[in-house]
Formats: sequence, C-alpha cells, structure tokens
Amino acid sequence: MTTLEAVDGFERSVLAANAPLAGLFESSAVAGAARMRELAARTTFPSWPGATSASKLRAAAHEAETFAILDEYAAAAQELLRPADVERWQALVVDAQRRAGRGVLTDELGCSTVGASLLRDRLGWRPFRSPQRSRIRCECGYAADGVLPKVLCDECEELLLRRWVAEERRLLRGMPAYAEEVALVIERTAEKQAKVFQTPGDDLYSEAFGQRKAGGRRLAKLGRTHRVELERLDLRRWSSFIAPFTSAARPSVKTTVAKVGRRGLGAAAITELVLCADEVSNRLSARILAERTGARRK
Ligand SMILES: [Zn+2]
Repeated sequence: MTTLEAVDGFERSVLAANAPLAGLFESSAVAGAARMRELAARTTFPSWPGATSASKLRAAAHEAETFAILDEYAAAAQELLRPADVERWQALVVDAQRRAGRGVLTDELGCSTVGASLLRDRLGWRPFRSPQRSRIRCECGYAADGVLPKVLCDECEELLLRRWVAEERRLLRGMPAYAEEVALVIERTAEKQAKVFQTPGDDLYSEAFGQRKAGGRRLAKLGRTHRVELERLDLRRWSSFIAPFTSAARPSVKTTVAKVGRRGLGAAAITELVLCADEVSNRLSARILAERTGARRK
C-alpha cells in the first residue's frame, strides 16, 4: 500500500543521509529550472505544421524536458547510491504507480532513480492524478496499466504522437541548422499533401501517403548529412515511441510509422501530418456531401 507520498518520504530520508547525493540533487534542480525557463521561450522551435494545440504542445515539451533531466540525474546519481536503496525505491514506485493506475503516464520515474519524484516536483511537472480524472479519457487501458493493447484508443494514440513529436523537437533544438532543414522538409511535405486534396482523384489517401513517404526519404538523406551530430545524441526515448504504433487505430498512422519511423528525426512530425490530412479530407467530404445534397434538392 504505497503512495507517491511514501516515495517522496523515502527519497527525503535517503537525501538527508547522503550529502553528495543531496548536492547532485540540488544542482540538478537548479540547472533543470534554468532549462525549463529556456524551454518556455523556445517551445515552438523548430516550427512546422502540426495538429497539436499550443497548450498540449507546451505540456508535452515540458514533459520531454523533465524526462531528459531525470534521466541525466539518474546516470550521475548511480554511483552515489546504495543498490539496496535503489531496489527499495523501485519497489515503492512500482507499487505506487500500480495503485494509482497511472501506467504509461508516469514513465519518467521509471527511467530514473532515488530523488526523481522530488526533482520532478521541483521542475514543476505534475503527473496525471489518474487516467479517469486526468485529461486522458482512455478507452483501451494503455494509460492505466501501460500494457500495449491490440488497438490503441484515439486518446492514447494522440498522446503517444504528441510525446514523440515533443521528444523530436527537444532533440532538434540542440542542432538549430539541422532543425531548420528538417522543418523545411515537413513544411514542403505538408504543402504537397494539401495539394493532393485540392485536385480531384480516386485515391487521394494513397497519394497523400506517397507524399509522406517521399518526405521520409528526404529526412533520411538529411540524417546522413548530419550523421556526426546524430551520433552524439541519445535517441533511445525517441525510438521507443515507434513500436507502440503497430497498435495504432488509424491505418494511415500505422502505415506511415512503418514506412517513415526509421527514417530519422522528423519522422514524428511527418506522422502527425496524417492528422492534418484527415482534417482536410473530412472537410472535403463534408463539402462534397453538402454539394450532392444541394444538387438533389434542386
Ligand atoms: Zn487508451
């Protein structure tokens, strides 16, 4: 019967007895807060067409940065911690998360270690209280238990996509020139995709998919040009978002990730263009339907 309060209490007792760890905690919190302030000013860079609202984008960016800070803290804290304390902490976290039913929504603690829950608080990241009471109205269970279902619900699919895009932007923020080139590819792909829906045709969906695939090939080419910068990056979290999309409910999301996901940075943004295409084609079908109804009435 553990709660997050118990995790926090345990972290306080370990920090109080371990001065080097407390020092690392404090410097991580101060440096982390500075990173958060910087992020607030640069959330929308690199900028490209997407389907996410500004507020959701901000939240996802905040989360991605928190995740990265907790991950770096854990790497530095590792040698300062007693294995028994780490084990005890992990057991408390797993238990607290299971009780709260938070599953996939709290993965940032899973990647870190003793001190992470308090550090997360200091960074101002509020975990979702529970899937039912959060902004996530999950119907597939993934948000609650973190077990990948056969088919993701819309909420979880969009949450994953948002997180993937936010992590992609976070990585690109550190490489402004590369980021601008990626943004240009996304912009051009979005334009070409939009044009597909402006011209009559039988299979606009597969034409739009073709444009996204071409965008993916351009991204791969960019990745080869920036190979040296990419080698320095930790792409583990970014890559971890690819596999769950095999359970995507939207066939176009599934096929786009399958074709473009491994093309490198920018793949998340290209996938998000599926949502833009859906929007355009929905408007288009609504217009055609209205015209047909109008014609019948004449
Ligand atoms: Zn769900």
